[in-house]
Amino acid sequence: MFKSVNGILHVEDVSVTELAEKLGTPLYITSKSKLESNLKAYKDAFPEAGLLYAVKANNNLSIMRIIAKKGFGADVFSAGELYMAMLSGFKPEKILFNGNSKSDEEIRMGIRTGVKFSVDSIDELYSISEIAVEEGKEVDIAFRINPAIDPKTHPKIATGLRTSKFGIPWENVLDAYRLALELPNVIPVGIHCHIGSQITELSPFVEALNRLFDIAVKLEEMGIEVKFLDLGGGLGIDYEGKGAPTPKDFAKAIMPVFEKRCRELKSKPELWLEPGRSIVGDTTILLTRVNAVKRSYKNFVAVDAGFNLLIRPAMYGAYHRVAVANKMDMPAEEVYTIVGPICESGDVLAEDRKLPKVEKGDLIAIFDAGAYGFVMSSQYNGRPRCAEVLVDGSNWFVIRERESFYDLIGKQVIPDFLL
Ligand SMILES: *Cc1c(COP(=O)(O)O)cnc(C)c1O
Repeated sequence: MFKSVNGILHVEDVSVTELAEKLGTPLYITSKSKLESNLKAYKDAFPEAGLLYAVKANNNLSIMRIIAKKGFGADVFSAGELYMAMLSGFKPEKILFNGNSKSDEEIRMGIRTGVKFSVDSIDELYSISEIAVEEGKEVDIAFRINPAIDPKTHPKIATGLRTSKFGIPWENVLDAYRLALELPNVIPVGIHCHIGSQITELSPFVEALNRLFDIAVKLEEMGIEVKFLDLGGGLGIDYEGKGAPTPKDFAKAIMPVFEKRCRELKSKPELWLEPGRSIVGDTTILLTRVNAVKRSYKNFVAVDAGFNLLIRPAMYGAYHRVAVANKMDMPAEEVYTIVGPICESGDVLAEDRKLPKVEKGDLIAIFDAGAYGFVMSSQYNGRPRCAEVLVDGSNWFVIRERESFYDLIGKQVIPDFLL
């Protein structure tokens, strides 16, 4: 899906140099067939599971539409994500409303839309029950547990540690279910956890799944029918070219445990998963043009995209593979550090990479930018956000237009006395 043709990087059958000439840079470019093959990999590996795409990874409407059309549900973390998920065609009964700090307005919108809730606190449980009564609706809920598991990933994306802000400590969660049984209009039907992101060791998932079953057994004793066990998302992708588990490997690790432990239960719950990164991460490149090459403390390559468009390197020290997109056949000669245009020394996209000789005007492709890329972008330093393009074979479509200066000031209001 990403290949070199006569030394030029192509996304499917479209040359990125042509896209850059027609549309300008920077540009996010997504391969539709790569996205579809990732969706298929999950469906093949987990034919019976409930697959909910984690909207926060990439909320472009066209991309989400492709995902929704393949029958995926959605995991949303805010009313805004719920709005976008509904617009993209996800079915409300296949949407789980997550979040550790939902406002009453968000809860009401979720209830009116008819989605299920992952409940993160007792306060939230009371709010949902009260609002559900007001709305005259019954709401299916799961509690998000804090399983106290180390997912062995970057600390900022480990979400199931005992110290994390998410979920209800698993040791106390039975009390929460008991309360849910007493409160009107909330029906406990599932258990939810999400231990972290970019996880490349599978044993923490097995540990978390066992935790869910331990609780499910107790819930059945309390008379609750457990309809789903939601193991969350978090499967890592191969940013560094060192290999990462596939959905198939993931299934091999967890499905035997799932089948075995289901025998302890009277009912057979569905397994739910909430992949984000492993659906969209490797579908997309960020294409950026070189404005200047400078020999200083290091060989700096200054490009037109920075942490305003891809914050992962600055925020998580993340590694993204890079290539000189118009010199794919040339031998790597020199070591370069790729930096963005932002007025911060932390604006480094890739450090000490051996690349073909880089010159002003060259194009740099940053790979695996489809997850937590555009969604985390900002207008910092007065930079309008870039466009997004979807490639399908030899066709391409602008799926988000480049912002203009007007978008920088769009919602600002100058009080009369300053005019
Ligand atoms: C972020 C998140 C996901 C998706 O995580 P990935 O690592 O992108 O797969 C799933 N579920 C919840 C609750 C999340 O917060």
